[in-house]
Amino acid sequence: MFEHLHALPADPILNLMVQYRQDNNPLKVDLGVGVYKDEQGHTAIMQAVTAAETHLLATETTKTYIGPAGAEGFNYHISRLLLGNEHSALKDKRITVAQTPGGCGALRMAAEFLAKCAPDTTVWVSDPTWANHIPLLKGARLNVTEYPYYDGATKAIRFDAMCSTLESANAGDVVLLHGCCHNPCGADLSTDQWDIIAELLVRKGLIPFVDIAYQGLGDGLDEDAYGVRLLADKAPEMLIASSCSKNFGLYRERTGSVMIIAPNQQQAAVTASNLFSIIRSHYSMPPAHGAAIVETILSNTELTKSWGDELAVMRNRILQLRHQLANDIAATGCTQDFSFIPQQKGMFSFLGINKDQVGRLRDEYSIYMVDSSRINIAGLSSHNLNYVAQSLSNVLK
Ligand code: PMP
Repeated sequence: MFEHLHALPADPILNLMVQYRQDNNPLKVDLGVGVYKDEQGHTAIMQAVTAAETHLLATETTKTYIGPAGAEGFNYHISRLLLGNEHSALKDKRITVAQTPGGCGALRMAAEFLAKCAPDTTVWVSDPTWANHIPLLKGARLNVTEYPYYDGATKAIRFDAMCSTLESANAGDVVLLHGCCHNPCGADLSTDQWDIIAELLVRKGLIPFVDIAYQGLGDGLDEDAYGVRLLADKAPEMLIASSCSKNFGLYRERTGSVMIIAPNQQQAAVTASNLFSIIRSHYSMPPAHGAAIVETILSNTELTKSWGDELAVMRNRILQLRHQLANDIAATGCTQDFSFIPQQKGMFSFLGINKDQVGRLRDEYSIYMVDSSRINIAGLSSHNLNYVAQSLSNVLK
């Protein structure tokens, strides 16, 4: 039976990682894979995470099963971190929360839930969107189509085109939005634009589905949650996938959450039973460790402060790197304008160069990025900024 399978092409990002590792050039720079790095190029464990792990090791008394929803304490704290303590969806008990294996687990369980409620529904995703969104949605057999989002020529959001396309969607269609720090383009909706989108979705009966994987890495923990909180306030039904991979640095611990908002408490109970049954039939229950770390941090004032402070350092470093990159490129005399980079948010931006130029940066200068020219801003540092700016300028001559 297995003979009928064909080998699939290697994932471009994983391929890039292999090429980077094999490159002997001491000046090599990795701007490919999307993990936060510090000035030394290291993806360090956050101090609050280490403190929480030490505490857990000393106090944990059992490894018994926790159930499909995961840890109640984690679900309590993560939903408040996302929506704020006083959010009406929480007060009205309209929300079902489940701890998931990362943001991917959350996205997939939300997709399976949609496939169960409305198998023929269409999910609208931004053009472009994070590469794994489409396989995660299509894996649940959903129809996926795109709305215009980023204009590579103007480096801005195609907001009018986005709105007019969504005006043509059918009631009951689902609209996937990036909560903040859009991956891959870094261009986020302004608060005014969120207001307009929220009005449009509610008026047309479209279901918001917000993926928020970078809360705290754009403008701040509350600022980055503007859109998700607004929609949770206005829309009767909504799905949210959140990830602790980046903002807690818990990547391999697979920590995230799926939240589903129902119109009322009775409907929420039905939602919960269906969501938990879907989870049970996929992976039964999520891994405990990462969520226990997050719960330990968010239930302790001191650790919450330490974590928030370290997250602010990460956020500010990214912002500073964005400014420095644009300035350093301009200082080389490059005539192409990169002033859009400091205006964008989070870990990613497109340089907006073509595939040949991406190839030249890789082959001649050992600077690695995906073919779309998306770069991980956090891969820059004072050690390589000048080199990257000069190399880019050379390639653009
Ligand atoms: N959504 C987006 C937009 C992402 O960029 C990521 C991580 N790259 C995720 C979700 C999920 O990440 P994870 O499963 O590692 O938590």
